[in-house]
Amino acid sequence: KLYNQVQDLKGSIRVYCRVRPFLPGQPNKLSSVDHFEEGNITILTPSRYGKEGRKSFSFNKVFGPYASQEEVFVDTQPLIRSVLDGYNVCIFAYGQTGSGKTFTMSGPKELTEKSRGVNYRALNDLFLLSAQRKETFSYNVLVQMIEIYNEQVRDLLVSDGLNRRLEIRNSTQNGVNVPDANLVPVSSTSDVIELMNIGQKNRAVGATALNDRSSRSHSCLTVHVQGRDLTSGNTLRGCMHLVDLAGSERVDKSEVTGDRLKEAQHINKSLSALGDVIASLAQKNSHVPYRNSKLTQLLQDSLGGQAKTLMFVHISPEMDAVGETISTLKFAERVA
Ligand code: ADP
Ligand code: MG
Repeated sequence: KLYNQVQDLKGSIRVYCRVRPFLPGQPNKLSSVDHFEEGNITILTPSRYGKEGRKSFSFNKVFGPYASQEEVFVDTQPLIRSVLDGYNVCIFAYGQTGSGKTFTMSGPKELTEKSRGVNYRALNDLFLLSAQRKETFSYNVLVQMIEIYNEQVRDLLVSDGLNRRLEIRNSTQNGVNVPDANLVPVSSTSDVIELMNIGQKNRAVGATALNDRSSRSHSCLTVHVQGRDLTSGNTLRGCMHLVDLAGSERVDKSEVTGDRLKEAQHINKSLSALGDVIASLAQKNSHVPYRNSKLTQLLQDSLGGQAKTLMFVHISPEMDAVGETISTLKFAERVA
């Protein structure tokens, strides 16, 4: 028990795999998922992916296609508490385009109370827990929403934000931050929903029907928490990054050129930089290569040290996607 607590204090990396259900209008499609149980998942592989025809992977947990948003969030709740205790937290959604990243973080397009994603639930918990502590602590909660596209940081909370590049700074007083990004105080979950809608709208400005920018940029909702102990006057800071990553699919270099190729190379670079950072933290390496991408620079003080990391790794169930599924699971196993 004590050992667990010490482990807990030292920070941790957890990896959960989530399998998207088949979508309506996909009748009788073959599934690449053979079976899953607790933390294990076995994928059926056509012969070109391995002799056995099956490959197994292990994670902290596997959520099947029928897991509810609520079930998926339950294991995330302890992280929310630790933000209020002054820890930094990163929650990522990783996977190929269409595998369910945005569903996990934000929910489906037609939102209902039940289908709300991690972002909403995390903030809702944050407000509930801080209200429970109001006799002993006072908290300020501030939110930023940025996008990283082609290794450039943009503000999603201002209407012309996509036109202006922002710098990431590292100061002793504030840690890693983006000083020029809008930082909005919030006091309820409905404030946050409003901001998320604004961010979503601004993000869509850069997209057209054929050019869904959201799958090729990382979007990051950052929640800054400042707390003050009402008896001692001591202050603390915690920070939570909720990151919907760019699609992890490999593009065929023979098929894309120009801007698309550049985008693909930037995504590839930043996702491998993220993988390298988490893997070197998991192996307790003394050198952690944060400098290799904007994403890892931005998250530097929320990855490693005392910080806590949770990665939701998403896979599509279709046999057609098995190549991407295996490369996703290999990425995930490396950081787990
Ligand atoms: P991504 O963000 O990875 O590109 P989306 O979250 O947009 O993928 O998911 C693709 C489609 O699948 C969307 O229509 C979404 O609503 C649906 N979907 C994803 N995950 C689930 C799930 N767990 N249950 C039901 N529908 C899902
Ligand atoms: Mg998405």
